[in-house]
Amino acid sequence: MNDVYRLLGQLRHYAWGGQGFITDLFGLPEQDQPVAEYWLGAHSAAPSSLLIPEQDAVPMNHWLNQQHSSLPYLLKVLDVARPLSIQVHPNRQQAEQGYALEDRMGIPLNSPRRNYKDQNPKPELALALGDFYLLYGFLPDQALGQALDRHASLGPLRACYQEGGLSRLFPSIIDSTQSQREQWLEPIYQSLDEVADRHHVDYWIGHWQQLSRTASERYDTGVLCMLIMNLVHLRSGEAIFQDSNVPHAYLHGRCVEAMANSDNVVRCGLTSKHVDVAAMQSLVSLEQKRPAIIRTEPSSSHADYVVPVSDFRLQRWRLDAGQTKLSPIQGQSILLTLQGTGAVRRDNAIMDLEQGSAIYLHQSQSLCVDAALGNSLDVLILSPG
Ligand SMILES: [Zn+2]
Repeated sequence: MNDVYRLLGQLRHYAWGGQGFITDLFGLPEQDQPVAEYWLGAHSAAPSSLLIPEQDAVPMNHWLNQQHSSLPYLLKVLDVARPLSIQVHPNRQQAEQGYALEDRMGIPLNSPRRNYKDQNPKPELALALGDFYLLYGFLPDQALGQALDRHASLGPLRACYQEGGLSRLFPSIIDSTQSQREQWLEPIYQSLDEVADRHHVDYWIGHWQQLSRTASERYDTGVLCMLIMNLVHLRSGEAIFQDSNVPHAYLHGRCVEAMANSDNVVRCGLTSKHVDVAAMQSLVSLEQKRPAIIRTEPSSSHADYVVPVSDFRLQRWRLDAGQTKLSPIQGQSILLTLQGTGAVRRDNAIMDLEQGSAIYLHQSQSLCVDAALGNSLDVLILSPG
């Protein structure tokens, strides 16, 4: 089958990752450290391997270079067992400028202090694989005022917001001292009731309180950000688009992320990784609104997650047992099997699919997928937009 290859991704071990979910999905051995992400793509930080018949596995970025080609997107599976950093990603101009500046400053690409690892923007789409909780953008004006009013200890921040809006409040939070944050947060921790409801921010504040081991974790700026950001619950199959500059933080759950081919992240809280307050202030969008959730028909055999960028387009095909689907696709595509068994068919050749198998189609104009006779099939297809 010309130009259709099996693809093996790479695991990423970060402290916020879980155990079992990603290794089970991809049929990999148990790991002795948390497994946070599985990357499918050609990013130089963790390129996937192409399995080319009668050759050794080839790093995808090298192979694409030989073809005078590149991949505009990256696909990840995430297992979020504990909250990850509050972060923003740059737009293209900011990425190019930031990359050049950090080069001039002599910060090596693999340094933990490096914000810009490439010159690309990183718009992202997160598709929930079960209940998924995240923080996204800032609360609308009235809701934000009410959130601050709930806690007497936040009086100074309330005054700040009244005087200068979010452009005064946000820097006051992320540039605050630990002793200020202790004064603001400790009374909140003391007054927390046991909250079982994950739809309420108090649950996540209590959750963070239980997880924190040190004073600097307990009084993290991110806990104050939780109070002024939208708490979003995605159900399985729902998705959310995170454009450049929109602050966000994943709290708990499993998801697939489709994004432009970038690893540019600027962080400001809930993390032991490098925090850059000045860069966060220069990148963050202070827009205040409720986020839009992308919903698709749960029983639909074809879902298209439409995003306002041209770097990628994510589709989900769900085939009943024995069903065949043939559809045009746009250029270089990655297919990931979430569930079931079946096959990709092309030119009388067949490539079997089972849970976790990934296929790369280099220059295909169409894709034909079969579900096995006794089994349904659930696949994601990522292509250029
Ligand atoms: Zn992100």
